[in-house]
Amino acid sequence: MFVGHYSVAFACRTERNQIPLWVLFVAVQFLDYIWATLVLLGIEKLRVIKGFTAGSMLDSYFHPYSHSLITAILWSAVAALVYKGVCGRHPFDSAHGRLSHYSKSAPLIIGIAVFSHWILDLIAHPRDLPIYDNTSKVGFGLWNYRDPEFALEVALVVGGIVLYLARNAMPAIRKGAVIAFGIALVVVQIGDTYVPRTPLTDKRTAMGVWIFYTLFVLIAFAVEKVGCRKRINTP
Ligand SMILES: [Zn+2]
Repeated sequence: MFVGHYSVAFACRTERNQIPLWVLFVAVQFLDYIWATLVLLGIEKLRVIKGFTAGSMLDSYFHPYSHSLITAILWSAVAALVYKGVCGRHPFDSAHGRLSHYSKSAPLIIGIAVFSHWILDLIAHPRDLPIYDNTSKVGFGLWNYRDPEFALEVALVVGGIVLYLARNAMPAIRKGAVIAFGIALVVVQIGDTYVPRTPLTDKRTAMGVWIFYTLFVLIAFAVEKVGCRKRINTP
């Protein structure tokens, strides 16, 4: 699962909880940020093999700290507590850059967003997600079916964006920016699923994860600034 994770970020953001979209973009990929970091440190292990599954080259044969069910629950709790600690004290309104109300449900939503990553990975991954430690591995393996997996990613992103647009009031120009962002995410997914490429090393793959995910976070930040005060260019 790749861009499909962002559907949860779009779907979680409401007028009521006031969680900035960029924060949710970090949350839904929080487990992968930990994973990429641990791969870079040589603690978690990854092989990149051409044709490993139809839709992905990643053989994540050792990722018990970032991607086991037990640690996913723990990381979700950590993220919720961090959000509560930081934003509970300094509530902010991402859209207008000013202080506003802080919704009590926000940390729980952050926790759910982080945990959603494991659930969506469970659908796509081959049997490589441990329940605990590095054992009892699960995974429904939708990555073995390239087109259905791609269709699910796109359907999720579209669904998430529809909810986001329906539940958040915004100027027309920002709506356009959000839709453009959604199209860009689909294009990235087309590239990831269908464009053949030489496998990178494990470390370069992890670096790519950091760079791409952070780029998306920055775009999510910029998109929520569009049409508020002065205009900011979007993708
Ligand atoms: Zn993952």
